[in-house]
Amino acid sequence: EVYVLRIGHRPVRDHRVTTHVGLVARAFGARGLYLEKSVEKSVIDTIARVCKTWGGEFRVEVVDDPLRFLREWRQMGVVVHLTMYGLNIAEEGVLDLIRSIRGKLLVVVGGEKVPREVYEIADYNIAIGNQPHSEVAALAIFLDRLFSGKELLQEFPRARLKIIPSNRGKRVVRVG
Ligand code: SAM
Repeated sequence: EVYVLRIGHRPVRDHRVTTHVGLVARAFGARGLYLEKSVEKSVIDTIARVCKTWGGEFRVEVVDDPLRFLREWRQMGVVVHLTMYGLNIAEEGVLDLIRSIRGKLLVVVGGEKVPREVYEIADYNIAIGNQPHSEVAALAIFLDRLFSGKELLQEFPRARLKIIPSNRGKRVVRVG
């Protein structure tokens, strides 16, 4: 089971990015998202609305103290921090290392500045290439490699709407 922690959210500026972290986490197979207290309620509402319409069991929770939360998580699971400074996921052996993790996995993505402690608490600091880009892209690629692309075929239970894939036009059916 994979969960995502998004840290370093800046109110207003990061509204859209944090929403996208949530939508990507859900669409790419994570079970839930943990957010800081500084995250606007509208971010949580948007993700909740998507879950209601498009189904699935994706949880969003707010954590009081992310560093304490990380330390507690390490008592029962593994922490992977996504950072451009980490071990490159494309290098031999790195993905195998990640795929060998059993039990609960927490994937941490940052914002503007990530506290040093996060690098220290994490079991693995993993880079999606060693170039700076984005928490949204990093999370998507990480989950897609972890799940070998199979997450894109997952069914989302209790959806209200479902897309019938088509080459042209938009085919959407009501299923609930
Ligand atoms: N310079 C910042 C730092 O202190 O690491 C990076 C800021 S970046 C805009 C925001 C987040 O995107 C990072 O915290 C990290 O989670 C993710 N990220 C960006 N590039 C990455 C990469 N190449 N590999 C993994 N994660 C990356």
